[in-house]
Amino acid sequence: MTCEPVNNDCRKSRSRGILVCGYNFTLLAKKMRAGKELMGVPISQMWTVATYVLSQRLKGRKRYPLVLMLEPLFRCNLACAGCGKIQYPAHILKSQLTPEQCFDAVEQCGAPMVSIPGGEPLLHPQIKEIVEGLIARKKYIYLCTNALLLKQKIDLFKPSKYLTFSVHLDGQKEHHDFSVCREGGYDIAVEGIKEAVKRGFRVTTNTTLFDGADPASVRSFFDEMMQLGVEGMMLSPGYSYDKAPDQQHFLGRAKTRRLFSTILSNRDKKWRFNQSPLFLEFLMGKRSYACTPWGMPTYNVFGWQKPCYLLQDGYADTFSELLETTSWDHYGAESGNPRCANCMVHSGYEASAVNDTFGSLRGLLATARATLFGGSYVNREALDALRQPVENTRHHFIPLSVSAGKTASTENHEARSTQRANDEVKV
Ligand code: SF4
Repeated sequence: MTCEPVNNDCRKSRSRGILVCGYNFTLLAKKMRAGKELMGVPISQMWTVATYVLSQRLKGRKRYPLVLMLEPLFRCNLACAGCGKIQYPAHILKSQLTPEQCFDAVEQCGAPMVSIPGGEPLLHPQIKEIVEGLIARKKYIYLCTNALLLKQKIDLFKPSKYLTFSVHLDGQKEHHDFSVCREGGYDIAVEGIKEAVKRGFRVTTNTTLFDGADPASVRSFFDEMMQLGVEGMMLSPGYSYDKAPDQQHFLGRAKTRRLFSTILSNRDKKWRFNQSPLFLEFLMGKRSYACTPWGMPTYNVFGWQKPCYLLQDGYADTFSELLETTSWDHYGAESGNPRCANCMVHSGYEASAVNDTFGSLRGLLATARATLFGGSYVNREALDALRQPVENTRHHFIPLSVSAGKTASTENHEARSTQRANDEVKV
């Protein structure tokens, strides 16, 4: 960008960096340098995502994926009360995707980013091959791990801009250990983070917040993570649906907005988030988005899960079949589907925010403003809320996904997979 001085005042002022002709370049440059430090996502990754979104739009594609949720296995070395994956029968827990199945899914989908949740991906005996194959395909990988095995397995990997360890931590030590039902889990994860940071890996954290979360404690947790040197943090509210037996600890939309507004307003400028600033504003109630469940499609040992990471309304054998045969209008808060009524989770709504950023000038400017200028979100009400006592920070977790309303077709599909797994065992 260039600016021709229109008069002497302007010329003089430019050298001091004072706004006269509409733009303060010195200040902007400083902000941009600071913004680069504050952004939890490297520029090369942002550029890849931006060009991908633009190319999809130019091709006129109405529905395109941003992040593939690749679940190579459901096995885990934790048994968190809030997780539905580990409730599968033993033969399903023993099964896993081969590296070739993973690569095929990645190529069918075409998304520039791949998140590898689970289960615990570090338990997969071929995780090294899977990660190397994805890096060779220039995919930005978020390997989601509870980090219990991170120190032990870290020699399998080499630092790369394409590989990020996304460590699951649900808050400060006591809260996290309670959440994952494992005393000492926080300390082991922190050791893993330190080792990975020391070796030059990209490391982020991912945190799910439920009703009863203590906003002041969550903010202290952010400080702790920044001190550990993580690149950025990711947040999401837990998923709830109206038939879950324990309704009192789920966050309805109003509660979600209140909680995130309390946590994320009056923000410490040192905090970095490895996610869309517009998604965080959505959680704080500053924006509304429709769900884009195809934005983060899920592939696992059953196939392509309909319609999203959380619900199981059947499976498709191919990604095109998923796009073509899912009744997308039946999902999202505005659809009237009760299972979507309270959902604000990242797998449904972060892609909406990213599309907003790279799909319109208004979205791009809002993102730039939030990243470079909008840092602290001053809010007196939120400050007062921080001082309020929190009634109950310990709650019961409701399993995600498995409990979230399976359809008959899902049950049939799983039964077929069970049969296949049993046959393989017999062979
Ligand atoms: S609103 Fe939530 S549960 Fe419903 S389709 Fe979207 S992500 Fe899935």
